Amino acid sequence: MNMFDAIYCDFDGTITKEDSVNSFFELYAKNWMDSEKLWIEGKISSKENAIIQVGLLKNVSQKQLDDYIDSIEIDDYFLDFVDYVKSRNIKLTILSDGFDLFIQKILERYNLDIPYYANKLIYKNGDFSIEFPYYEENCDKKAGMCKCHKVKEDKFCYIGDGVSDLCIASKADFLFATKNLYKYCNENNIKCSHFNSFRNIIDMLDMCN
Ligand SMILES: [Mg+2]
Ligand SMILES: [Zn+2]
Repeated sequence: MNMFDAIYCDFDGTITKEDSVNSFFELYAKNWMDSEKLWIEGKISSKENAIIQVGLLKNVSQKQLDDYIDSIEIDDYFLDFVDYVKSRNIKLTILSDGFDLFIQKILERYNLDIPYYANKLIYKNGDFSIEFPYYEENCDKKAGMCKCHKVKEDKFCYIGDGVSDLCIASKADFLFATKNLYKYCNENNIKCSHFNSFRNIIDMLDMCN
């Protein structure tokens, strides 16, 4: 018997070693931190922030985009984790307030067939635009991709690292947190288990089952 029916997992900074969206802005969107700061302070929503930042991306060639996506590294134990949840028949879904384009390419790189929900990044002739197919007007955090409305199971586990996980973190039956999300949970008395890599998560799930 598993403790929960499903695992939902953040992408940037959780599955990937670094936040693939922020690193991309760092390279190609000058001044992206201006609106990032407003978002972290809660003055603008993540949707508003994403529209501003994607608008700053200029003159990125197809090769630059491809090379960038190729350079994104994932957690050393994520593939083991995918095998582990498969062997346990637990449903795994990626929920990301980042870009579908990056997620799709990285899953293809490793031949992974994992459902994902993310914002839609559209690339055309060096410029980008963004669409929000999973935006929910009544999301607590006004996230571009609202994670809390995507979860249907009664009992679920969530894994995440940051601000984009706040609308769902406190609702999870079992929460694995790292980096800023872990700090936030500690400060706000949200119960969670800390992880450094997916190896820790496999070990902890194994102990519980
Ligand atoms: Mg993240
Ligand atoms: Zn939400």
